[in-house]
Order: sequence, then structure tokens, then C-alpha cells
Amino acid sequence: MVRVSKLGRIHSLESFGTVDGPGIRFVVFMQGCVLRCQFCHNPDTWDTTKGMEYTPQQLMDEIVLYKSYMNFSGGGVTFTGGEPLLQAEYILEVSKLCKEQGISVAIDTSGFVWNDTVKEILEYTDLVLLDIKNYDPLVYKTVTGVSLSPTLKFLDYLKEKNINTWVRYVLVPNLTDNLDSVRQLSDHLDHFPNVSKIELLGFHKMGEYKWKELGLEYKLSDTKEPSKELMKQVKEIFECNGKVVSANV
Ligand code: SF4
Repeated sequence: MVRVSKLGRIHSLESFGTVDGPGIRFVVFMQGCVLRCQFCHNPDTWDTTKGMEYTPQQLMDEIVLYKSYMNFSGGGVTFTGGEPLLQAEYILEVSKLCKEQGISVAIDTSGFVWNDTVKEILEYTDLVLLDIKNYDPLVYKTVTGVSLSPTLKFLDYLKEKNINTWVRYVLVPNLTDNLDSVRQLSDHLDHFPNVSKIELLGFHKMGEYKWKELGLEYKLSDTKEPSKELMKQVKEIFECNGKVVSANV
């Protein structure tokens, strides 16, 4: 019997990404997300029925065009979104094709989706960019609309499998700048030797116009970008347990 490959719904592709993992990266923005982060700058990726359809091989044909740039720079492919793991079967197929080509794979995820296919994907994943939106469960729920616990269980599994992980934290004044919980997150991450880096990302409003175009209420219109002092303060908290921390100050 001939196996029919699943189609993936893709929002967009970026062939020379430099901010979603090491080196030069082919970034695949997958369509669909169930979280509703208040600071999301890609709300146009939420709707699971939108996007362009690609077979795994069609996407791979695009990816391999940039293989030499990725290999030369220590880069690879990053699946982001949206939430890439909503389309786990598709990501699994493309990840296998990447590995056949010797291309490194990173997944940028909220860690909310969990099933056997996700576990299998992680066997082909070189780096996970795990977005932890807050460590206080109540704030997390306010920020994202969903519960924090799946993300922490996901993190536990990454440790168990010793998968290289970068934790991403978006600093939003008056929303995610609860410093006690930043300290608790920093202490928690101290128990995860597989977390090789923390990326502190300052909130920005570059996606605000998309919320307006989609007719959605953007609650952060009056929120300012974090000050350099606040970024420095939070960076130091994350650094105090010896982790490497990058910050876009
Ligand atoms: S998980 Fe990412 S794509 Fe989904 S709502 Fe949050 S920031 Fe947006």
C-alpha cells in the first residue's frame, strides 16, 4: 500500500533566520495555535484552517536549497509558529527528512501539546526552544489562557531525554515582571542541566497591527517596552544560578 503523506499547513517561510536558534536557519512558521498569549506578535498564525498546504517533500525541496548556508553556519531548520506541535505528524515526517539530509532540527514550542508523536519528534530534535511565559500558574493562565503544568511536564521530559533546551522568557512590564516568580523560575531551571541557555526577550508591539487587522482586542496597547534597567535586573536573576543568558537589550 502506498503511504500518503500528511499535508502541513504553513503560515510562512523564512530562509535566512538568525534569531530562532544558532547559525543561519530556515524557519518554518506553522499555522495554528491554541494559546492566546496577550503579547503574541503572530495572531495571524492562530487559525488552524488558514495557511498554505505543503507535502513534507515540497517543504523539504525548499529547505535543501539552503543546506550549505545552514551547515556552514552551524544552523539548521526551526519549526515555530503558531504552535508547530499541533501538526505533530507532519513535523515528524519533515524532521526525519531533515535528518536524512544531515540538517539540524530545532522546535520552538510552548510545550502545551503532548502525545506519542511529539515524543517521537523529540528523538529527531537537536534543540528545543521552550517558551515559558510565566512561572506563576495564575499569571501564566492570564497571559496565555491555558494552564502552565503541561509546559513544566514537557520540560521534565526534555531533562529525562537530555535534549538541549533554550528557555525563552518574554518580559512584559506589569504582566510578566513579577520578580519573585522570575526568581522561582531561575531556581527551578537550576535543576535542569539540559537547559543550556535562557533567552530573555523584551516585549515589543510590532505585531499590534495584526491584532487590529484581525478585529481582535489588543490588551497591551498602553504597555511600554521594558526599560534597560528592568531587562538588566531580570537578566541578573536568571544569571545568578550560572546559566548563560542572552537578552535583546
Ligand atoms: S504560543 Fe506563540 S503563537 Fe501561540 S499565542 Fe502564544 S506567542 Fe502566539
